[in-house]
Amino acid sequence: MSRFLSFLFPQYTWKRTTSEKVVYLTFDDGPIPGVTEWVLDLLKEQQIKATFFCIGDNIRKHPHVFQRLLAEKHQVGNHTFNHLKGWKTPLKEYIANFHQCQQEIEKHQKPLAQLFRPPYGKIKKEQGKYIVDQGYEVIMWSLITKDYEAKISPQACLNRTLKRVKPGSIIVFHDSIKAEKNMKYTLPLLIKHLKEKGYSFALL
Ligand SMILES: [Zn+2]
Repeated sequence: MSRFLSFLFPQYTWKRTTSEKVVYLTFDDGPIPGVTEWVLDLLKEQQIKATFFCIGDNIRKHPHVFQRLLAEKHQVGNHTFNHLKGWKTPLKEYIANFHQCQQEIEKHQKPLAQLFRPPYGKIKKEQGKYIVDQGYEVIMWSLITKDYEAKISPQACLNRTLKRVKPGSIIVFHDSIKAEKNMKYTLPLLIKHLKEKGYSFALL
């Protein structure tokens, strides 16, 4: 799936090309009290930095969680204000929602890197072009954990992730209520596994 999409959309980032043992942890859809804070506690304990693609409206609702994320030197990316599906949204509306999210982020801090991830990975060509022309890097992924899928068990979520991870992987988790169960099981064991294999964790 992602190989096919990466062939269609080479202007977006699907992985970092490297032979070094490094991976990029990313978390979508927060900040959410409880879930995001659990992730932050774990990352702090493990001394790992990650990239959070935040929904603007969640930043508005939970500014204190967002501020903690910034204070702990994680990286932030734009994930639209209302988690819009690009394929179903007119260009003008999509652009406005993208900017609304950016304004919400910048109320707190101007991010060092300009990163955007389209919700559901679904974005129309002209939407992507506009965002790239604004100087943003559009970050897709090479490894989706499917932590949000209710029909996948925590063990299956871990297994598929361990099977697919490799140098340069951009790994997607979700700090959301829906993904909480699978994410809380998979993330610590993935980190343990990767550390034992000599991997490090980098910011995008
Ligand atoms: Zn999302």
